[in-house]
Amino acid sequence: MTDARDFACDVCGSARAEPIACAPAYTKGQAIHVCLDCGFVYVRRRRSAAAIAASWSDDLYQRAYTARIPAVRARHRYVADTVDNELGLRGKRVVDIGAGEGHFLELLRGPEYGAEVFGIEPSAANCQRMAGHGIAAFAGTIEDCMAQGEAGARPFDIATILWTLENCQDCRAMLTAARALVADGGHVVVATGSRILVPFKKPLHYYLGDNPADTHCFRFTANSLSGLLRRLGLLPVFLNRYIDSEYLVAIGKKTDPARDDAPGDDPAAVLDFFRRWDAETRAHFADA
Ligand SMILES: [Zn+2]
Repeated sequence: MTDARDFACDVCGSARAEPIACAPAYTKGQAIHVCLDCGFVYVRRRRSAAAIAASWSDDLYQRAYTARIPAVRARHRYVADTVDNELGLRGKRVVDIGAGEGHFLELLRGPEYGAEVFGIEPSAANCQRMAGHGIAAFAGTIEDCMAQGEAGARPFDIATILWTLENCQDCRAMLTAARALVADGGHVVVATGSRILVPFKKPLHYYLGDNPADTHCFRFTANSLSGLLRRLGLLPVFLNRYIDSEYLVAIGKKTDPARDDAPGDDPAAVLDFFRRWDAETRAHFADA
């Protein structure tokens, strides 16, 4: 990790943070911090964006993750139906940032939803798969795509970031780029399984793994995700019923100006949440 450096809170910019005491026992000693000003949970020490992307495309993605499983197909369906209900998809121009193997875009362009789709995806192998299915995609990061103007002249109606925002190095940069890709009044959809301050959905060692910590830099509450969107000029217009869903889904509408008046979370409550989750795991799932 020679190119790693420490980051401030991505939501409020504060450098005051306290490490989650139990986290290193689950992460091979790697620290995860809670912002003492807004309660945001983030990995302070991160490598470059390129190094993190390489971890995903060269190693973790190939080894541990494929979208060809029921659980992933189910969450794609959940998001597609949610967006269709809230915004309508038929005839809309949709860009998926971190499109993976393109399964979500295949679903959106099918007869049921009828959207016009485009993918942005760092893995060349995934882009080849999408091309084989007739899905236009940019092979590279969102930053490369913006720099090269590859996403087309016409702005998109909707940008989607599914189970990806928590895995990038700079969540502000990714959301800012997503906002730039959509037309005025367009929408950015964020879905993540990394929701906290909710009932525990699994033992803590399933949640805090021993992968490089900076491949999963962010863990969101409804407040922190909404607040981040507001601060970036994306007015939250929809939040799913995340308490008893495994997913947290937020939709932000591109508006001006950016606002920084969103309430954060109580840092003590966030630290206590992880303390309780650790105790629950040790008491009941020690051998899982
Ligand atoms: Zn903060």
